Amino acid sequence: MKILIAEDDTTSRLLFGATLRKLGYAVTAVENGQKAWDAWKQDGHSLLISDWMMPDIDGLELCRMIRAEPSLQYTYIILLTALDSKGSYLEGMDAGADDFITKPFDEEQLAARLRVAERILALHKKLHVQATHDRLTGVWNRAAIMDCLERELGRAARESSRVGVVLADLDHFKRVNDTHGHPTGDAVLQEAARRMRLALRPYDRIGRYGGEEFLVTAPGCTLSEAMALAERIRDSISAGPVDCQSGVIPMTASLGVAVGGNRTGEDAGMLIAAADEALYRAKRAGRNRVEFSKREV
Ligand code: GH3
Ligand code: MG
Ligand code: MG
Ligand code: MG
Repeated sequence: MKILIAEDDTTSRLLFGATLRKLGYAVTAVENGQKAWDAWKQDGHSLLISDWMMPDIDGLELCRMIRAEPSLQYTYIILLTALDSKGSYLEGMDAGADDFITKPFDEEQLAARLRVAERILALHKKLHVQATHDRLTGVWNRAAIMDCLERELGRAARESSRVGVVLADLDHFKRVNDTHGHPTGDAVLQEAARRMRLALRPYDRIGRYGGEEFLVTAPGCTLSEAMALAERIRDSISAGPVDCQSGVIPMTASLGVAVGGNRTGEDAGMLIAAADEALYRAKRAGRNRVEFSKREV
């Protein structure tokens, strides 16, 4: 784990750095709050040890700034202080600190506190994965993929770029359940998600939008690029039958594509509704095919 240290006192900073490295941590050490903020923004360290008293941005302010920033991972913050008083503990906790270390520090205590930090960070990470992923298929869940789409649309509005969405719905999936049973249906869904992932570019994301419906967000896509992506997904899904315990099951999907984002304030719901309308046409036109939204976006 990489620890970010913010400490204006050179001797103390060097001592912390050396001790933490000896304990097996990678360390970035900076001498003021501004540099700590820049380093945190850039690298997203999950563990910060910050001195309280620093010129300009002090430890408390740094805590508040980090807590105010929406961030996917939690940052565990330990404040360093010489002020061993109840008042300062309360103030630090209210600013968002998780723990305190008083200077001069005790090496064993520091190591123990870092073990606690690692435990809490691991728990946080586990809960975060559970809260954002679909348990069956391992892709993002509906809330997470919608958040992702909202973020991408926000970015597209700022950068005048576009976002493609692909809505994919497995064809005649009810029959799989009816013929082979629900557990086999589950296995087919898992395989569908795996095959879809193979077709994505590194910055595309996939989420489970509904039962047998998946949503892909494709930032920076023109309509023809989004169509090409949807074709790759269709191709990957239908590459061959799924080999299950209860037999060999053919699998295809119908896909709807829409591209948006060049208009400010465009909303995720509108874009998905457009992709859904195209998906509906793909179903009606015989399934195992891709259609795109013809609306002006
Ligand atoms: P279409 O080609 O028109 O999309 O037909 P379909 O049968 O795929 O669509 P329909 O909406 O009629 O059925 C979807 C089925 O997906 C019904 C539901 O029981 C099943 N399903 C939804 N979630 C799950 C799941 O988590 N596991 C399993 N095994 N089945 C699921
Ligand atoms: Mg200081
Ligand atoms: Mg469906
Ligand atoms: Mg279906």
